[in-house]
Amino acid sequence: MKKIAILGSTGSIGTQTLDVVRKNKDIEVLGISAGKNIERLEEQIREFSPRLVAVWEEAAAKDLAVRVSDTGVKIVTGMDGLLELASMPETEILVTAIVGMIGIRPTMEAIRAGKDIALANKETLVTAGHLIMPMAEKYGVQILPVDSEHSAIFQALHGENRGQIHKLLITASGGPFRGKTREQLKTVTLADTLKHPNWVMGQKITVDSATLVNKGLEVMEARWLFGVDLDHIQVVVQPKSIIHSMVEFEDGAVMAQLGTPDMRLPIQYALYYPQRRFLDGERLDFAALKEITFEEPDMETFLGLPMAIRAAREGGSMPTVYNAANEAAVRKFLNQKIGFLDIYDIIGESMERHQTIENPGLDDILRIEEDTYNWIESRW
Ligand code: NDP
Repeated sequence: MKKIAILGSTGSIGTQTLDVVRKNKDIEVLGISAGKNIERLEEQIREFSPRLVAVWEEAAAKDLAVRVSDTGVKIVTGMDGLLELASMPETEILVTAIVGMIGIRPTMEAIRAGKDIALANKETLVTAGHLIMPMAEKYGVQILPVDSEHSAIFQALHGENRGQIHKLLITASGGPFRGKTREQLKTVTLADTLKHPNWVMGQKITVDSATLVNKGLEVMEARWLFGVDLDHIQVVVQPKSIIHSMVEFEDGAVMAQLGTPDMRLPIQYALYYPQRRFLDGERLDFAALKEITFEEPDMETFLGLPMAIRAAREGGSMPTVYNAANEAAVRKFLNQKIGFLDIYDIIGESMERHQTIENPGLDDILRIEEDTYNWIESRW
């Protein structure tokens, strides 16, 4: 039996991870966690019998303890709880399916405890990749990508020499507003934004897909995961999300991974790497598909991508500001306090005021995150 713990088990990636566990029957889930969704946690406790459950909100943790008092499960709370879950003695893999920079400390704790990381939480690598990748090497743990684009690249690189990558081609659907002008984006609503054309995902990443911030985060994530510089990463729009990403090698050969949009494939690949397992679900039908089309991303309208590239080129603490400003802006957008285009203004102005620190440590990153949130709160 493979033994895992899941940070963010109640979310989109978390529940799909549990579906992979349910279908395979040879993975034991020793720990699960959520922010506050105790109804779903209770269901998961009763189905998967974990030993430890971390709930971020203290009041929710207390309610959960009452609801599951017949099970004997241990319930912990806050950051200490997430750290305990991340470093449970018997787990082999931590699935980081939590959303946002809050994933950084538990991910580091898990690496220190020698766990492999099935990484969905891209915000962690974007802000702290320069700390996490060397740590993973030092502790001899694998960072197994769950993001579909990075999993595609990881699959294309299997058995290849990473020194012979010419470029990474990260595909993008273009999101629900592909083809719209800036003028048209002034009036888009939250409901319009949450209608992703191909994927059903958590709300934050769905908004990030519409702004192309998600693609920007993925470029930064790819750079750390595969050790490729920004000049050798290209974003290509492929509206149907059939090609999940590609690698071009030095000899011009391009290796791609294709499939229907189903996150259970990259999740399962990360959990069983390097083995493949049967996966139910829809398969590609090339005769019905007929064509796969490509476009350049619209960098004039969807500023999430060019701003990410600017933050990544500046380096140091700037990606933290880009990411923290986006997290704060998306929270405001989801609460309908700001419009769609304000997200770009908030990120842009936050980056503008920031004095980059080279090679920030964890404390610097967390301080800059807090400072960025506070500044945005005082202004918007
Ligand atoms: P969701 O919003 O669906 O789920 C987030 C999970 O994190 C929930 O379990 C949530 O708990 C938990 N959580 C939130 N805040 C806290 C907290 N303070 N402490 C503990 N747990 C917390 O997100 P997704 O599953 O969509 O995304 C998760 C990560 O994976 C993101 O980084 C995203 O970018 C990445 N990703 C997602 C993909 C997808 O298809 N969804 C694809 C590729 C990457 P609760 O339910 O209680 O709020």
